Amino acid sequence: MSKSDDGSTRSNGFHPAAPPATPMNPVLLRREMVERQLRKRGIRDERVVAAMLSVPRHEFVPAELAGEAYSDRPLPIGHGQTISQPFMVAAMTEALQLSGSERVLEIGAGSGYQAAVLSLLAREVHTVEMHEDLAVDTRERLQRLGYGNVQVHVGDGTLGWPDQAPFEAIVVTAAAPEIPPPLAAQLADGGRLIVPVGTAEEQRLLRVEKRDNVLLKRPLYHCRFVPLIGQYGWKPKDS
Ligand code: SAH
Repeated sequence: MSKSDDGSTRSNGFHPAAPPATPMNPVLLRREMVERQLRKRGIRDERVVAAMLSVPRHEFVPAELAGEAYSDRPLPIGHGQTISQPFMVAAMTEALQLSGSERVLEIGAGSGYQAAVLSLLAREVHTVEMHEDLAVDTRERLQRLGYGNVQVHVGDGTLGWPDQAPFEAIVVTAAAPEIPPPLAAQLADGGRLIVPVGTAEEQRLLRVEKRDNVLLKRPLYHCRFVPLIGQYGWKPKDS
């Protein structure tokens, strides 16, 4: 029997047992994830790498998928939604160029994994989720795991979160048909917005920087996210 990093005890493998809810060695799995999936594909920011090494991704997926948590793909989290692939989380975070002082807005809290990564690199994170029961679970999870500088809000994130605007960094983790105008409006001068824009099937990750009220746009990766639903997103019937 051996102790894992969550303090639980499990079999050494001599006896068949039910699949564990925590993978055998999450610390090692995170190191492998960082080397194989992130560094090899060009993630360079050491602060982003440190955050990806630290956040226990297996806590953010359904228990029956904990063994898959560090694999190179998105995973279902219920409601037809997904937790993004580790590389996509790292790439979006890196593109935000956080220095630690920012107030960040995320649209699409989902499991809270991206918000947890952001919380280690910024002063404050506000994340908006349209599904109330996902938001309630995610709020509880982030609190339990000690990510105290994240606030989970329920609402249509295509409208941003005007009460707390402006934000130095905004990230949208669902596919938008266009850049939602309220998000551009709530971006601080010098701020960065990362958003996948395109059709429901395929998008391009855009990095948008606001300078003197001008939006400077740069296309990054091709990607495929679940649809952003709402006033400046897709109508629910399109999804
Ligand atoms: N960032 C998440 C993954 C997000 S999946 C993570 O780390 O796990 C996309 C999420 O966006 C889903 O949870 C979906 O419910 C949510 N969503 C879609 N449209 C939205 C909107 N208009 N406002 C807020 N959340 C939205």
